[in-house]
Amino acid sequence: MSEKWPIGVFASVDAGLGVHLDVAKELGVPTIQLHTPSKENRNKQAADAFLDKCKGMGITVTAVFGGFEGESYADIATTARTVGLVPEATRAERAAEFKEISDFAKLLGCGVVGMHIGFVPDKNSDSYKSLLSITRDVLDHVAANGQRMHLETGQESADHLLEFIADVDRPNLRINFDPANMILYGTGNPIEALKKVGHLVASVHCKDAKWAPEGERGTSWGSEVALGEGDVGMETYLRTLNDAGYTGPLTIEREIAHDRERQKADIGAAVQLLQSLKQKIG
Ligand code: MG
Repeated sequence: MSEKWPIGVFASVDAGLGVHLDVAKELGVPTIQLHTPSKENRNKQAADAFLDKCKGMGITVTAVFGGFEGESYADIATTARTVGLVPEATRAERAAEFKEISDFAKLLGCGVVGMHIGFVPDKNSDSYKSLLSITRDVLDHVAANGQRMHLETGQESADHLLEFIADVDRPNLRINFDPANMILYGTGNPIEALKKVGHLVASVHCKDAKWAPEGERGTSWGSEVALGEGDVGMETYLRTLNDAGYTGPLTIEREIAHDRERQKADIGAAVQLLQSLKQKIG
């Protein structure tokens, strides 16, 4: 993609909190990250039909994000227990399913798969060691498909994430930076975190949030809000991405799938905000 910072939006077919493709088209957004469709829709026929639709709308798929049955973001403790490859009871089956998601992304001609790996455990635990080996196994499959995997941020501090990525030690592991998640999970100032991990950032979410009250950070959710209305500071965020040399898509996320009209209105306003900041900074 030659244009710097093409606008994107997180999209869904039949699972996940993204907008549907027609909304991306209506808002004139040229790229999407796609939440993986459910299992029965991960096949060549579905991929071809989806690609056809994207082509007709002039939309490029820049990443396919994995998601698994049984994941719940109800509260931070439930998220830690249920999300990603970290929970040991489902780790092997989810790793196998993620390889299928990578295969589906390949059918879409997409070179990036993303995931929330979960709350990475302490470096000295057995769970950490086995997480390293299964992550390498997944990454090798992803590499054989000619793809990179981007880890969504938020559930770890910047330092813990850097340590994990260094320990996994695979060249196709990068970061999908989500500044709002750092606030929602209470894992650290997103701008300071971005300065630390910027060299590994290969895709981003443009999402905003307000911190939970002091004393509750890390145990209670902060609140996700429309872009520009939260504590991230969008201009500083984009300037920091610019300083890190990031030129990829700016993918808007607004996770209020229960209110489709407001979701669309907020994303429309986010597109305008990003376009004006692009002019100012880019
Ligand atoms: Mg995100």
